[in-house]
Amino acid sequence: MAGSRSLPPVGVFALQGDVREHVTVLQHLGADVREVRTPADLETVGGLVIPGGESSVMDKLSRLFGLQAPLRERIRAGMPVYGTCAGLIMLADSIADGITGQESLGGLDVVVRRNAFGSQLDSFETDLDIPALGEPPVHAVFIRAPVVETVGEGVSVLSTLPDGRVVAVEQGRLLGTAFHPEVAGESRFHRRFLDHVAAA
Ligand code: GLN
Repeated sequence: MAGSRSLPPVGVFALQGDVREHVTVLQHLGADVREVRTPADLETVGGLVIPGGESSVMDKLSRLFGLQAPLRERIRAGMPVYGTCAGLIMLADSIADGITGQESLGGLDVVVRRNAFGSQLDSFETDLDIPALGEPPVHAVFIRAPVVETVGEGVSVLSTLPDGRVVAVEQGRLLGTAFHPEVAGESRFHRRFLDHVAAA
């Protein structure tokens, strides 16, 4: 990747979720990747991927490990973040259908509904046209996925399902997808995230 030598290390939030898959994709793109579990880990990275997993557990653990406040501070200060699925929920300013007391980190001016596809469509795969990424379409894997229900003014919609539901958004240097590109060998979202890191 052009300019990768000047990139700072990037982190993957590693208290819960499919950490390894994201580390692998980022390393394939030439990034120096750190697993982030503590505020000290966070200080060493110039951008962060928050994986899929279970957002309510991520929320609890991030508070328990003292990461919530420093994460919010870094996001407010402009750190690039890419959240997939549970990671998107963590980035949402507002969560619908969260568990009692569930908090997010915020940063993306969106309302995200957890488990939006119900039990019948718990998990599915589809190909999505994403103009910002070009050809070919993205093979998107949805696993108990959320959807973006409301989008604020500064938020770009990168992708919708055929029925119009929003499943990928970007606001400044924050990127969020309701699906998992990392389990399908798709690296263009991670490349876009690294471009944000390079620009930051
Ligand atoms: N349903 C999960 C949550 O609420 C997200 C699922 C996922 O990350 N694949 O956090």
